[in-house]
Amino acid sequence: MTSLAYRPAQPDIVVNKTDAEEAVRTLLRWIGDDPDREGLRETPARVARAFSEWFSGYSQNTGQILSKTFGEIERYDDIVHLRGIRLESYCEHHLAPIIGTADVAYIPRERVVGLSKLARLVDAYAKRLQVQEKLTAQIANSIEAALRPKGVAVLIRAEHHCMATRGVHKHGVDTITNQFTGVFREDQTLQQRFLTFSGV
Ligand SMILES: [Zn+2]
Repeated sequence: MTSLAYRPAQPDIVVNKTDAEEAVRTLLRWIGDDPDREGLRETPARVARAFSEWFSGYSQNTGQILSKTFGEIERYDDIVHLRGIRLESYCEHHLAPIIGTADVAYIPRERVVGLSKLARLVDAYAKRLQVQEKLTAQIANSIEAALRPKGVAVLIRAEHHCMATRGVHKHGVDTITNQFTGVFREDQTLQQRFLTFSGV
């Protein structure tokens, strides 16, 4: 892999793996260690591979994930709710992990999508540099655009390691963000049902 691929904002900038590994060596020197000692010799390559996994969302086309929908639902018209989807993301300010869960729900109008696709959508946005508010809105907006459902609800609760292990050092604090569209925004009873299912 030469780069994590598609970056619409910077299409001309391609960083190859050697450049990335050299950047890791620089950081290792900067923290006061020796990148040439035995234990660290393979570390730049391992870090580059780890980054490829942690930031694999950049090469995912989020528009395609929900492209296959199903219409045979016998007029099902209530909440479809995925609860507790494991969320692993990274803050764009410190590159520190954001670890938590996402709840994703919608009320179909005519069509539904494979349940695993909703979890894949969460991953595709999470495995990028993020702020939690934007991540929450991106997931909701994608479902809204793909399914045109009666409403979408997304709730993320996550611990930000940049806050837990540095700075104010507050461990065990969850940040909760919600985004509601359509009937979830308009109907307080529905919104409350979603929050009850989510355990908030
Ligand atoms: Zn941060």
